[in-house]
Amino acid sequence: MPAVFPSACPHDCPSTCALEVERLDEFHIGKVRGAAANSYTAGVICEKVSRYAERVHHPDRLRQPLRRKGAKASGEFEAISWDAALDETAEAFARAAQRDGSEAVWPLYYAGTMGLVQRDGIERLRHVMRWSRQHSTICNTLVDAGWRAGVGAKMGPDPREMGESDLIIVWGTNPAATQVNVMTHIARARRERGAKLIVVDPYRSATAKVADEHICLRPGTDGALACAIMHVLFRDGHADREYMRSHADAPQELEAHLATRTPQWAAGITGLGAAQIEHLAKRYALTERAFIRLGFGMSRSRNGAANVHAVSCLATVAGKWKTRGGGTFYSNADLYKIDRTLIKGLDRCDTSIRILDQSRVGAILCGDKHALGDGPPVTAMLIQNTNPVVVSPEVLKVQQGFRRSDLFVCVHEQFMTDTARLADIVLPATMFVEHDDLYQASGHSHLQLGAKLIEPLPGTRSNHEVICALARRLGAEHPGFAMSAREVIEHTLKVSGYPGFDEFNRIHWIDHQPDFDTSHFIRAFPQADHRFHFKPDWSKLGPDYAGMPALPDHHAVIDDADAEHPFRMVAAPARSFLNTTFTETPGSRQREQRPGALIHPADCARLGIAAGDRIVIGNRRGEVRLHAKSFDGLQPGVIVVESVWPNSDFEGGVGINALVSAEPGRPNGGAVFHDTAVWVRKA
Ligand code: SF4
Repeated sequence: MPAVFPSACPHDCPSTCALEVERLDEFHIGKVRGAAANSYTAGVICEKVSRYAERVHHPDRLRQPLRRKGAKASGEFEAISWDAALDETAEAFARAAQRDGSEAVWPLYYAGTMGLVQRDGIERLRHVMRWSRQHSTICNTLVDAGWRAGVGAKMGPDPREMGESDLIIVWGTNPAATQVNVMTHIARARRERGAKLIVVDPYRSATAKVADEHICLRPGTDGALACAIMHVLFRDGHADREYMRSHADAPQELEAHLATRTPQWAAGITGLGAAQIEHLAKRYALTERAFIRLGFGMSRSRNGAANVHAVSCLATVAGKWKTRGGGTFYSNADLYKIDRTLIKGLDRCDTSIRILDQSRVGAILCGDKHALGDGPPVTAMLIQNTNPVVVSPEVLKVQQGFRRSDLFVCVHEQFMTDTARLADIVLPATMFVEHDDLYQASGHSHLQLGAKLIEPLPGTRSNHEVICALARRLGAEHPGFAMSAREVIEHTLKVSGYPGFDEFNRIHWIDHQPDFDTSHFIRAFPQADHRFHFKPDWSKLGPDYAGMPALPDHHAVIDDADAEHPFRMVAAPARSFLNTTFTETPGSRQREQRPGALIHPADCARLGIAAGDRIVIGNRRGEVRLHAKSFDGLQPGVIVVESVWPNSDFEGGVGINALVSAEPGRPNGGAVFHDTAVWVRKA
């Protein structure tokens, strides 16, 4: 029997599953399973991570530093030594700073690993070198703003309580694909209590397929649906007025405002039937233990923050927070109180240095003055943990920017991604079982340690090692650059009041879920006035707040369909990929087959498109070629493309995000992946 060691899933998924990893020998892992002893993971992980050995031991992993030898984007590289690669990178950064000032260098990173040390260490180098800062908007900026607007902090009822609910509404997330543990707890409630599962989503996702009811609304209209439900609660005497008097800011104003937000009004916006909305509202009102699991999906829209806020108001109007198995949950990310000064070099962060929006990387690299904050052009980049040439909005502009001959790019990666192909220097990176890190979950309440389990693939180095090696060459001074990853973890745990590395490794995780009263906001919401805010001060949540609704509403700023662009498109996550991770593993590719667009049969018939036909989807930003799939699990006039397939998997090398706008969501920026009007035709 192979030895089994604890770890944590490093991927960009709220579940941060507690793992058990078989170690076959000092270089190889075997099976990966969910830790049965962890009460959230409960022994269940998603299929793609269970076959992780195929990723760690993939023959295409990068294993030697590379230097571009042909023209940009030629894909021609030559192998070089680590020393030469790091020297050239450091020299290029120093040259760029000397020529245009330190802000000309822009490190870009995101969530390829969610480990705090290997992900965020790049920030330490950035701050010490006074390089341009990053406004991290590609994922949770919109949903955070909407949640903080009402509730005040990223915490809430224990998600394990879903197992004790009688009605679970999964709204804007697809946990059957990723975040599978949500389904485990829902399955318990269905088995033991006969609980009902309702899914609110613009298409019949894997989760909607197994639900008791699918509320299939038009994309970007969640705020309207939430308002109509609240209208019914007030109208029919189901609003908990006593609870709102003690726990909310403006219930009377809200009631008056919602008087016109009837189910008929919402039907016209959402495309749902008024009777269906009435039925949903009644079911929610009459089920005491009603739990809403709120996801990111509804936020990836120009009105995303307003949608999230409107949905978060439901449990307050109905008084559902009071009950075990009731309330609404989004994230627990504010629970952990980890001191990240050493990891991120926060003691060296100068907020007068410009900050660039990662979702607008195309505009930034193409020299848009506004996107550049009127500062110097970006002429040198270090990229870790992200694949911006594929995942960013306005992909064509991003590709154009990365092809600039005066831009130096170093990409530290596990595989030759589309971004790495456009780099000047490519460095091979380790995977999570090959280095030490610390992981906090957002979808539950556990802080976990993931210790190194096997030796790194020869030729690869961890993010931390690369950052420290560059720091040495650049003369950057900070205690974190002289420490190992393990020492950084040890120090961070100590100053944050946690047990040390060895003790943590022995206990595997610490559960931070607060007691019932705190989790359910029984005494107070985490707002300055201790109340839930129906009437948020959006100006405190971001600079672009003008015109945002004073009270929950349908915020009509979406890229709505028109005569030229009659379809609304959602760029949804594919089940077997996670962003672009796993697009290289044979198992995931086999399951996803090829890029395809889900189109309603009525639209297919109208456009003369048959299942499997080659089609073109386009708008003013570009055209994307893929195959049609006739699918009746969405409304006519809506298209869903499950991805993120690499650009190179699309005919012509143009990926789906070419059609997505880089216009920032309100009030604090944020990518609007599900808010795109398009036309469709047969190729
Ligand atoms: S469900 Fe999410 S956290 Fe769990 S193993 Fe899969 S990707 Fe990782």
